[in-house]
Amino acid sequence: MQRFAVPERFAAEIERLMRHPVFSLKQPEEATDFARKNGGLLVGWNWSFIVLRPSGEVVDWDPPSPPETVTSYSRYLQVLGAASQIYPSLFGFIPERPADASSCHFCRGTGAAVSTSRQDLRCPMCGGLRWLPAKAQQVGQDGLPGSSSR
Ligand SMILES: [Zn+2]
Repeated sequence: MQRFAVPERFAAEIERLMRHPVFSLKQPEEATDFARKNGGLLVGWNWSFIVLRPSGEVVDWDPPSPPETVTSYSRYLQVLGAASQIYPSLFGFIPERPADASSCHFCRGTGAAVSTSRQDLRCPMCGGLRWLPAKAQQVGQDGLPGSSSR
């Protein structure tokens, strides 16, 4: 099973951004509380509350369901892509498109969102990356970001 590691300097950058979060009136206090309790950076608060931890772990909470730790690589990339829209410095942590990746079918490889609400400027499927990882990389408990011993 393929593992993927969080790029070097990722944790330091997330921690730096946690000290300088983007505040918006659109962020419910519940979401910022959730991020604080989970020790991560709030990167999503529209459909569900999404927190990116310095380890690369992603916690997704869509109340009233319990919070879930994201284990899919494609979802991790999607979150990273969307997060880089809020925090441009994260853009540098998006991996190069692998040779076996496929173009995103949802946005037809444009990276643009189909819905045009201002909060949703990027494709919700690929997070604006324009590509999706190969099927083999998309699932697997081993593929949890930050699970590498590196
Ligand atoms: Zn897309």
